[in-house]
Amino acid sequence: MTTTEIPTRPFGPVARVPVIGQGTWQMEHDDRDSAIAAIRRGLDLGLTHIDTAELYGKGRVEELVGEAISGRRSTVFLVSKVVPFNASKQGTIRACDRSLERLRTNYLDSYLLHWPSDHPLEETVAAFEDLEKVGKIRSWGVSNFDEIELEAAVRIAGPGKVACNQVLYHLRERAIEHAVAPACERLGVALVAYSPFGSGDFPADHPILKEIADAHDASPYQVALAFLAAQTPALLIPKAATVSHVEDNAAAATLVLSVDERERLDRAFPRGPRRRGVPTL
Ligand code: NAP
Repeated sequence: MTTTEIPTRPFGPVARVPVIGQGTWQMEHDDRDSAIAAIRRGLDLGLTHIDTAELYGKGRVEELVGEAISGRRSTVFLVSKVVPFNASKQGTIRACDRSLERLRTNYLDSYLLHWPSDHPLEETVAAFEDLEKVGKIRSWGVSNFDEIELEAAVRIAGPGKVACNQVLYHLRERAIEHAVAPACERLGVALVAYSPFGSGDFPADHPILKEIADAHDASPYQVALAFLAAQTPALLIPKAATVSHVEDNAAAATLVLSVDERERLDRAFPRGPRRRGVPTL
């Protein structure tokens, strides 16, 4: 598989990124060499959207990512996040500088507020705008915002400024399909889906999933990614610290399910009723 085979989707008004990316949460617990090899293999295969955060391993994961992408920065779409308790105006600017140092780079492709903060959003947005002006970030976005919080963010920043909203989305947690995903589409905000395998709690033995996977000579994980990508315009960021897993995920980018298969998966893993707020882990 070559990089050109991974389809892309918009990330904010100016960028496009591959539909499958790479998450990095909890990579500080993985074998370091294996995790770095997996990230690099992902880059070889075109999984250039790498998602990390200052929170992950208290900065250790950003350091690991910095090592993995060293010498290849220009091929990466690098995203990190400021933790809400740092998200005052000056706190955000200082947090970004620390992340840049750990990641061994002088810019982020996008910088996100990890979840809604007690600091006024106006302050965080002002910091993002300053960081953008000086070239330390190329865009910014939010995470774990419900549709009401997202609308407020767009009101504060103006249209075309909030690049993405990163939210929980997997086969057994499809609540964002009700209101969050439509709000993202309406507001021109990229939908980034985290924990697409339920953060390790994945129904790999489910008979319908297995049957459809067998029909495509694919893995149940690939079928899940293909289903989620077909249901919404989401960019998916599975985490894999194993080369074979990254290869499996990259190959899922070109797996197309039939309407009948999607309907069967929809019945096996129903969207469920609309709930208040946005689901989180
Ligand atoms: P996930 O991607 O749903 O699941 C990761 C697990 O799936 C790991 O155990 C991984 O194994 C395994 N895996 C990956 N690909 C596989 C494959 N093809 N076959 C079999 N197993 C496979 O979990 P996640 O880390 O919670 O979510 C993904 C990313 O989303 C995070 O890493 C993070 O970047 C982001 N995230 C963001 C937030 C937020 O609040 N914004 C919250 C949670 C997560 P190995 O690692 O052993 O390969």
